[in-house]
Amino acid sequence: MRRKLAAGNWKMNGLAAALEQIEAMAPAASGDTEVLICPPATLLAQAAALKGDIAIGGQDCHANASGAHTGDISAPMLKDAGASYVILGHSERRTDHDEHDDEIRAKTRAAWDAGLTAVVCVGESLAEREASNTLDIIGGQLAGSIPDGATGHNLVVAYEPIWAIGTGKVPTTDQIGEVHDFMRARLEKRFGEGVGRSVRLLYGGSVKPGNAAEIFAVSNVDGALVGGASLKAADFVPIIEALS
Ligand code: PGA
Repeated sequence: MRRKLAAGNWKMNGLAAALEQIEAMAPAASGDTEVLICPPATLLAQAAALKGDIAIGGQDCHANASGAHTGDISAPMLKDAGASYVILGHSERRTDHDEHDDEIRAKTRAAWDAGLTAVVCVGESLAEREASNTLDIIGGQLAGSIPDGATGHNLVVAYEPIWAIGTGKVPTTDQIGEVHDFMRARLEKRFGEGVGRSVRLLYGGSVKPGNAAEIFAVSNVDGALVGGASLKAADFVPIIEALS
């Protein structure tokens, strides 16, 4: 049985006042559904210290544990601040910071070494989808970004079509199902059926209270990675509830 996961990616949003939103989300985090918030690094320690069952994660980490890398944050530092997860390979990191699969694989290994669960993001651009290359792209990103040694505990994969992020556009449920079934099959093939079946697969890209239930009904969708609609409890709690 895979535990459902509602994950919020706050990106570069959130001052201290936003901690109230996490407190307001806490009662929704119980039972079968795990709730994760990935706030900006400046709020990590405070968010982790809040009462309740909300897991806290970083949005990126360096591939090294320490060293001369001004402005970067290592996986042990995230762990030290109270994080148990880290998002890696988000398309905004791949684009804004020119991150490629090799680097994401190294970061994932660093996250595992620090005892964090990596939420590895994959997704195609609109041009890649229109050229019918979606599954090739996803297969390549899965193979390249995930190191050997994945388990159902240390890995979560998020399918986030780039064209659906922050745009209000969402793939059809058939399109989501096709990619999620494909990812499940790839993970089973590479890591064995037991591990492949235990890794949670999230969908991300314009998930809102109004479309969450429909998306969560798709096979092999174990939850969501939510950007904009995770910033406010009023939006995120109905998404968590749709998963429960
Ligand atoms: P969105 O972002 O929900 O605002 O589309 C999702 C993401 O980038 O993780």
